[in-house]
Amino acid sequence: MSSDLAQLTSYKMFIGGEWVDAASGRSFESLSPFTGQAWATMPDGEEGDVDRAVEAAQAVLDNPDWKRMPPIQRGRLLRRLGELLREHAEHLAQVETRDNGKLIREMLGQAKALPNYYEYFAGLADKILGETIPLENTAIFNYTLREPIGVVAIITPWNSPLLLLSFSLAAALAAGNAIIAKPSEYASASTLEFAKLVEQAGFPKGVFNVVTGFGKTTGGALVGHPGVSKVVFTGGADTGRIIARVASANITPVLLELGGKSPNIVFADASIPDAVNGCIAGIFAASGQTCLAGSRLFLDEDIYGEFLERLVARVKTIRLGDPSLMESEMGPMATTDQLRKVEDLVASALNEGATLLYGGKRPDDPSLGQGWFFLPTIFTDMGSDMRLAQEEVFGPVLAVMKFRDENEVIARANETRYGLAAGIWTNDVKRAHRVARELKAGTVWINTYRALTYASPFGGYKQSGYGRELGVDAIKEFTQVKSVWVNLSDTVPDPFVIR
Ligand code: ADP
Repeated sequence: MSSDLAQLTSYKMFIGGEWVDAASGRSFESLSPFTGQAWATMPDGEEGDVDRAVEAAQAVLDNPDWKRMPPIQRGRLLRRLGELLREHAEHLAQVETRDNGKLIREMLGQAKALPNYYEYFAGLADKILGETIPLENTAIFNYTLREPIGVVAIITPWNSPLLLLSFSLAAALAAGNAIIAKPSEYASASTLEFAKLVEQAGFPKGVFNVVTGFGKTTGGALVGHPGVSKVVFTGGADTGRIIARVASANITPVLLELGGKSPNIVFADASIPDAVNGCIAGIFAASGQTCLAGSRLFLDEDIYGEFLERLVARVKTIRLGDPSLMESEMGPMATTDQLRKVEDLVASALNEGATLLYGGKRPDDPSLGQGWFFLPTIFTDMGSDMRLAQEEVFGPVLAVMKFRDENEVIARANETRYGLAAGIWTNDVKRAHRVARELKAGTVWINTYRALTYASPFGGYKQSGYGRELGVDAIKEFTQVKSVWVNLSDTVPDPFVIR
């Protein structure tokens, strides 16, 4: 596990338990968002490599070592993986920070949480139960079996590679599937480091495979492959649409975890210091590069001025810096494309007449010169139809809006095509639950924001996606149901009527 981070590291893919280059021999460079320099090379996989991975995954599904492995043993392997992840959390976090530029404190927090995901689903591996169905005809015994779906492709984005992989991988492994992971071309390294731990944990060869490469080519080949039985995709809504379309050719089911334009709503009776803190956690943590970003802030008009004053005072003190240092609070954008997208949406907000309250540009600090940084940015006087109020930025840009009453803010908060998450800040317990029911979002936080755990279901309403990861029901996403009928009667029935 001790790859020397000071040198250009040359990674290989993990297919059928072997570490391999792309069949074409081609590779591409992975850049550090802090230095803008290449730090590693990745195999540039294509159709042939995907074919090999699918074959390996299909083979292990028929291999008694995996097919007949007692579920309690699958649980033990998952627990062993959890232990290895705990031992190597720091290394994995360093690799992620190097690759995607997100803060070490954030990536370390995520890496330290990973073992829980595997341990939680380890406990479920031997509790995947069928049902007995009480039928009218008591001479028939009817029961269900929950079986693995087959080959599951998991396509992840660059912002939290291992956490988002684990959102579905832990449940998919617990249910006995074989997996092909396709990490983002911008941050593939940690998934390959993770694969070393899967290998050490002792999973049979082919249970977990990683193919690296670009979205359209490697990702496209995987999604369109007839040997893939389910696709899990986390990423942008436009890519999600393409993936659902390509997968439909083989009637391959898809679980989509897409973007958001999540509202954070602060009522006048809220604890203002808590709400300011939650608002910052919502949009400036991770430099806004999270699908959960609380990118629309709705402020009750009675506290509007006071709240913004406090917010700006704290935002001014946010420390932008080297993401590998624990004291840094905001790192760079992960890619130059992302930086350009942020700049484009900021320009459009200015053109559409929004007021720039803070930020709006790259920082002047020369010590940040090589990195793809953008200042924390706040816009007020936002109209609901402005691009910045509707489009996901995936950057540190907050759109602030003022509201008068509860019904009005509910309607406006729901006024986007997304529905991933929402925050409510109030000390009125009745209002809190009333509003939670009205918001069209898969996750609603009351007096907190950006809280997640393996035990609670996660997914989107509307165009934020479909399917649910995490929690006990996630096992259902990775199993299929078989209904088995047993005739116990001694009489011979009429063959020409349905039985
Ligand atoms: P972001 O990471 O900015 O959300 P995407 O949604 O484009 O960007 O990418 C998320 C993941 O989807 C990455 O692993 C990427 O390689 C992959 N991907 C992008 N386009 C496609 C595609 N057409 N088919 C399959 N995978 C894709």
